[in-house]
Amino acid sequence: MICSLSSPANSSTRCWAEPYRISERRLMAIISFSHVSKKYAGDITALSELSLDIREGELIFLAGASGAGKSTLLKLIAGIERPSGGMLQVSGQDMRKVNRTTLPFLRRKLGLILQQHRLLNDRNVLANVMMPLIVTGADSREAAQRAQVALERVGLADKASALPMMLSGGEQQRVSIARAIVHKPRIILADEPTANLDRDSGKLVTDMLAAFNAAGVTCVISTHDERLLQGADRVVHLSHGRVMAMQSAGSEVGA
Ligand code: ADP
Repeated sequence: MICSLSSPANSSTRCWAEPYRISERRLMAIISFSHVSKKYAGDITALSELSLDIREGELIFLAGASGAGKSTLLKLIAGIERPSGGMLQVSGQDMRKVNRTTLPFLRRKLGLILQQHRLLNDRNVLANVMMPLIVTGADSREAAQRAQVALERVGLADKASALPMMLSGGEQQRVSIARAIVHKPRIILADEPTANLDRDSGKLVTDMLAAFNAAGVTCVISTHDERLLQGADRVVHLSHGRVMAMQSAGSEVGA
């Protein structure tokens, strides 16, 4: 396997497979799809009988062409969409039974970097990063301190008072990462996090997600950028809502 990406947390090169080798004990599925289907209005089948277990601490890439079902899979995990059939469990929660009371508890375990979760331009970067804490009733002073720490983790401590529109695309995506990790989630879901970024900014963003994974956070990242898949531990290839192939460190097997 080729290890080409380095961790932003330190200057040494870190192999993406490291978390797996040191954590073979982390074998429990934290996310489990069993024959899950998702249909949208108009008889559109976005996912079809999809089965997939994601273990605690894994870093998984979802690959596939536009329309393959990657975003839908992430939205089901986040509870933004509901399965039409089959069984989905996320951190022990049966997603068929999730409701207004249980969803906020689940969301506290999730860090979302989704395409529809844009930064708000009517408030500064710090306020954007504080949002997940404020909505769960955190004290605003403590939220500000934690948001500042999260911005430091993504190398943007000096941009706290800037408006998002004043930042580059890569910096805005790093603010999104800070907002996703400010409440210390167990799982990060990222939908095409490097879309529209140049190669260097995209690599920085992906390296940051890999660094959080190295710290124990389960990461599920969708991409159609084949360059990002090099060195990944497990790649799930989707096509027309089905798992077509699974590729894990050095091996490839049909689904
Ligand atoms: P990807 O993320 O791989 O591009 P999506 O999950 O966004 O794929 O889409 C899978 C399929 O579901 C596509 O055919 C898409 O047009 C359809 N789809 C996605 N979201 C909706 C929706 N809200 N309503 C109707 N169809 C949708």
